Amino acid sequence: MNRRRDALRKILREEGQGANGMLVVSVANVTYLTGFTGDSSVLLVLPDREVVISDGRYTEQLARECAGVECHIRPVGQPLYVGVAEVANRLGLTSLAFESASISVADFQVLKDLLPTVETQPTRSWVERLRMVKDAGELDQIRHAIQLAETAFTELRAGLKLGQTEKALADDLEFGMRRAGASGSAFPPILAVGANAALPHYRPGATARLGDADFLLVDWGATGPGGYRSDLTRMVVTGKFTDQFTRIYNAVLEAQTQAISAICPGRTAGEVNARARASLSDAGLAEYFTHGLGHGFGLEIHEMPFMGREPDVRLEPGMVLTVEPGVYLPGWGGIRIEDDVLITSEGVEVLTSLPRDLASTLRPV
Ligand code: ZN
Ligand code: ZN
Repeated sequence: MNRRRDALRKILREEGQGANGMLVVSVANVTYLTGFTGDSSVLLVLPDREVVISDGRYTEQLARECAGVECHIRPVGQPLYVGVAEVANRLGLTSLAFESASISVADFQVLKDLLPTVETQPTRSWVERLRMVKDAGELDQIRHAIQLAETAFTELRAGLKLGQTEKALADDLEFGMRRAGASGSAFPPILAVGANAALPHYRPGATARLGDADFLLVDWGATGPGGYRSDLTRMVVTGKFTDQFTRIYNAVLEAQTQAISAICPGRTAGEVNARARASLSDAGLAEYFTHGLGHGFGLEIHEMPFMGREPDVRLEPGMVLTVEPGVYLPGWGGIRIEDDVLITSEGVEVLTSLPRDLASTLRPV
């Protein structure tokens, strides 16, 4: 964690335009820099020290999770940002960099009012940039989160019964991940029968049932005990294997295969995207691929790099990404295949291990 805070200090020195402190507000960023997993707390990083501003509920947890990090436990009744201002004043901050994408306007106003002479300097994504490249410990946790998700899915798939509602299946899958050792779902799982799968971010309902249509889309992931996540999507055919399904599935699988083979250090996200799009375009389906190809993940389910909206990001060893092309036809449904990959110095390693060939989509009976 010390190494991570030093990396942030380096950014502060190089890009901070003279700021002598950085206020870290994002919960995931505070966790990344300190190991502390509670919330309602922020971190002030100064050139030679750091202070977590928290409250009495967390005194003991802070001592356990980030021994050695200085803490300001604010008295009962002191609002968080009043505490921040008190510490900033005490430490003589004159120019404060802060995470402009994570602080509310109201909290920012409290700081401005209480620190009238301190310059404030908005920053974007300093810690998120560091989080893009995972270290060995993080990769172990991500591999574990993938394994938990795969175990639960394999169990769910083996026990599928026609007539189960999407919601019941989602509940089973979540419980399965917890049983396997996860602290929970990485995000609310998407289980979508037939036409519902045309909505990339569908919420499972209590009316649609397995067997109402020929197939089911499952997009799920686990949060491992250390807070790191996984993110996968698989299709399950529960009815007739139609020509339409086969044609689209194979096109999506081909696009994913092409994209994965294009991934290596030095390539940009845009170049990898383009490979997937070109492949779907050959199949006449590019216009139905309506979202980005993938995203980083780790302590959060969506992290930098965002393959769709950050086409210029250059891939580096240590980044993990989802690769998830999809084709969505309103009224019919959607097909997405999503796997997790690690960029290595040689190229790419696929971290997920569930089969994804066409035959593997057939529900076991
Ligand atoms: Zn997903
Ligand atoms: Zn995803």
